[in-house]
Amino acid sequence: MNNRTAGRRWDAVTRRILRVSVSPALRVSVLALIVVVGSAAIQFTSSSRAQTRQRPGAHSTPSREIFTAADRRLVEKAIGATCSERIRDPLGSAPIDEMQARPSLPVSNPDAVAGARRAETLLPTTRMLVSSAIVNLAKEYDLYSSGAARARITAATQRVEAVKRIKPDVDARDNASVVLREPRTIEFGTIFLAGLRSDEAMISVLAHELTHIASGQPDSLRPLFRAIGRRAATRTGLRIQGQRAEELACDLVGVMAARQFINQTPSWEPLPRRVARAFEHNCVDDDASDEDHLSPRNTIRALLALDVTIAGEVVADTTGSVRTPPACCAGFLIAAESKTVAHH
Ligand SMILES: [Zn+2]
Repeated sequence: MNNRTAGRRWDAVTRRILRVSVSPALRVSVLALIVVVGSAAIQFTSSSRAQTRQRPGAHSTPSREIFTAADRRLVEKAIGATCSERIRDPLGSAPIDEMQARPSLPVSNPDAVAGARRAETLLPTTRMLVSSAIVNLAKEYDLYSSGAARARITAATQRVEAVKRIKPDVDARDNASVVLREPRTIEFGTIFLAGLRSDEAMISVLAHELTHIASGQPDSLRPLFRAIGRRAATRTGLRIQGQRAEELACDLVGVMAARQFINQTPSWEPLPRRVARAFEHNCVDDDASDEDHLSPRNTIRALLALDVTIAGEVVADTTGSVRTPPACCAGFLIAAESKTVAHH
């Protein structure tokens, strides 16, 4: 999922057979390089490339929603709000460039253990949220109308349902990865497990990996990835093709899954804070891009351009007016908020 020698990003190689870690100091020295030479995998890689070039249906999907200059300004404001909220949030995620610079953590590290437990606990819920998000996106992008299209999506959601295991790994460091030859396990670097401190952040990353698995060896979500990439490119002016489109689409499913999770699990925490957790790990200082990825901050930009509602939620007043209270306490909150409103 990244350039193989530099700029290692937080998620991992999926279709590629290389697995690379990068020295935090120089970001260029390869610490580990595993090459699996299974013939099936090689075939898959080459066929994946062929599909990228030849896939039919390259016509553009018209965007049904209008993206205005005001939306663009909102997106820019929301990027700043996301990264400010991350700093204020006691459960804020570490930015991926900061994770990258950390020393390796043993599997027994308490924060890594807590992260692994969080990932395991949230995996079943995330599987359901991802399947639902993929179906919704397929409908939104007009890729669910024919029988064949629906069958492709159904097969994709079945692959998601088959993922059962989280495997913590020291050498994977600040990455998570899936290997499509073994699509039942998500491998998670211990630094990454420790760096994602909220359920929302964990769901977002799990959902990203599950979406790679959903597309799977048949690459069956490729048309959806391309459609999402085209819309984001139109709205941002960024170049988003090939693997970049897939990575962005996986992130979008991650944000949708986290957002739905927030709906289902009311809390006293401010909504902007919870929403920001789904993508705030991209609040880096070192904003580098590579062939397969937008830069982290452009990733936030593209995600918010695709879902302007989320952008609006992130910039909402965090002083208490937008919350998703637990069922027990909703009445109390309304009373408290009416006081707040009176002050305004
Ligand atoms: Zn990825």
